[in-house]
Amino acid sequence: MSEPAANRVDCRRERYASSFAEEVAAENHRWRRSRNGSVSETARFPTTRLRRLRRSDRLRALVRETRLDLDDFVLPYFVGPATEPNPDLPALGRVSVDDLVTEAADAERLGVRAVILFGIPDEKDAEGSGAWDEDGVIQRALRALRESSPGLVLLTDVCLCEYTSHGHCGVLDGEEVDNDATLELLARTAVSHAAAGADAVCPSDMMDGRVAAIRAALDEDGRGETPIVSYAAKYASAFYGPFREAADSTPAFGDRRGYQLDPANVREALRECELDVAEGADALLVKPALPNLDVLRAARERFDLPVGAYNVSGEYAMLKAAGARGWLDERQAALESLTAIKRAGADLVVSYWTKELAGWL
Ligand SMILES: [Zn+2]
Repeated sequence: MSEPAANRVDCRRERYASSFAEEVAAENHRWRRSRNGSVSETARFPTTRLRRLRRSDRLRALVRETRLDLDDFVLPYFVGPATEPNPDLPALGRVSVDDLVTEAADAERLGVRAVILFGIPDEKDAEGSGAWDEDGVIQRALRALRESSPGLVLLTDVCLCEYTSHGHCGVLDGEEVDNDATLELLARTAVSHAAAGADAVCPSDMMDGRVAAIRAALDEDGRGETPIVSYAAKYASAFYGPFREAADSTPAFGDRRGYQLDPANVREALRECELDVAEGADALLVKPALPNLDVLRAARERFDLPVGAYNVSGEYAMLKAAGARGWLDERQAALESLTAIKRAGADLVVSYWTKELAGWL
């Protein structure tokens, strides 16, 4: 009578392995086929020595898995009524439209391919009407840049918080942001940006249904070719501090936790992404980047759209401050951070280091 094959193997193993642990070790020593069919080796020292490929710059470069490429980076600009440099955080200074033209040409010469514009209007009101004003700061900036730097990719942030007197991302109903009343204003803003020359619009308000509203408005205006890069997973984060100074968008009361994501949640972030995809988003952004690399990775695995990350002002400020104090090497720490964001799955990265990165690469 022939015994089952599995039993035969067990008997043989009993003969050669003095203990279960040894058996496992012996098993690990062999070449085996992993689940995806590729051959992998779980070998041990001294046969396997991972240091072999780390011995020189050239060898390390040969096997490097993740590289930084300026094609993937977006430089933010804060465009306001007057230029106000920020000596501690240079990328968070404000520029006038005239100076933006010179600055952007300079950045483009260094190799920067794309910018994202945030506007600081002369005057704010309860609705944030400066956001869609045909002669608003972003609309003027777009027309000027379209002319002066035709090759530069121009993205615009679409939100109301820089334009509202109360600093919230939408119009208010009492002390709450009125989601549905805000949608029409965001759509109007997006259309005005596209009309002024934006290559893509980036809604960052976190209102429900904004991508659908913006898509419909763009299409109705004959701008079916304008993509929507949605800040799909934007968290209520403490890391936006320096940005709020630059954009003058600190809420006059309360905070944004009533509409931005709770930093404790990742599944909810994926639902946000899913809804934005269903509503017609062309690319998804996760913001902030470094505290949410797991979210970025999860979005990368779940969706086939381009997924990007916003390496926010607080992430930039921390390294700038530590670098200025000599506590760490800013350049090395910045490159490591940006590489980690790419490695986690970002196709594009919005970063305040983009211009410096052009010099470093
Ligand atoms: Zn906002």
